[in-house]
Amino acid sequence: MNADLHCHSVVSDGTLEPEALAARAKGNGVELWALTDHDEVGGQHRARDAALALGMDYLTGTEISVTFAGTTVHIVGLGFDADNAQLAAGLHATRGGRRERALEMADGLAKVGIHGTYEGALQYVGNPELISRTHFARHLVESGVCSDTQEVFRKFLVEGKPGFVPHRWATLKNAVTWITDAGGIAVIAHPARYKFTANEEYALFTEFKAHGGRGVEVVTGSHSSADAVRYTDTALEFELLASRGSDFHSPDESHIDLGTLPALPAQLTPVWEALEAQIHHPA
Ligand code: AMP
Ligand code: MN
Ligand code: MN
Ligand code: MN
Repeated sequence: MNADLHCHSVVSDGTLEPEALAARAKGNGVELWALTDHDEVGGQHRARDAALALGMDYLTGTEISVTFAGTTVHIVGLGFDADNAQLAAGLHATRGGRRERALEMADGLAKVGIHGTYEGALQYVGNPELISRTHFARHLVESGVCSDTQEVFRKFLVEGKPGFVPHRWATLKNAVTWITDAGGIAVIAHPARYKFTANEEYALFTEFKAHGGRGVEVVTGSHSSADAVRYTDTALEFELLASRGSDFHSPDESHIDLGTLPALPAQLTPVWEALEAQIHHPA
């Protein structure tokens, strides 16, 4: 099964419309797809309709920003009711404060001589409530300050750099509860990306399970093959379902395209096996 259950559209920080992503996924052989925009479900009906029209199965998705042990952790939700009111309210609250944070980021960059970045970033934003570091990165590349987005993050947008402004996102408990109460499954996104100590990581997985979380991304565009081996062991240890997703954002930026990742290791249970009843099938 070629499942790709993690990617972004212009509804958050991707560069393609949901319909264009669906067509790209289909073209790359994806059989089960989910659009997982950051902190937002505004693209879900469009993505589902486009997938079904192309003959592709669809699961609803989102990727919620969470603050855990002082670090930003991402929790992917799959298979929930896209019209659930508690989830919508929770995501709305999580999106709050991005504009103020972006203005502070621009102040930080102005102090090192880079001016007008808030206005610049806004030019790349599809959804003003979702202005993110990615949009600043695109602006700083297009205006010639850096040669690619990786360089922008390294020099300006990570902790300790002038454009970094910490933010308090949702709690782990709230994010997992919103997804689960809406009928979906919560999944820890790209665990290898977090700079946790072994104890902190153990606490993340333990608390995640205690709140009802059931899955972990093992094969993702953010993991090396060694990371996938490591989190295969973690999935087995914590008895978690496994997910697979490219985290595709843009044809110009993402090195892993939709539907092109290796398969999940055979000893894992794919998360979609537990979501049979939530999968939307073409008529
Ligand atoms: P924000 O939610 O505003 O903090 O932005 C987070 C987004 O920035 C992530 O969803 C990624 O799309 C992007 N991002 C984070 N770190 C990097 C990096 N090192 N290189 C490129 N993009 C990154
Ligand atoms: Mn992103
Ligand atoms: Mn993420
Ligand atoms: Mn993502």
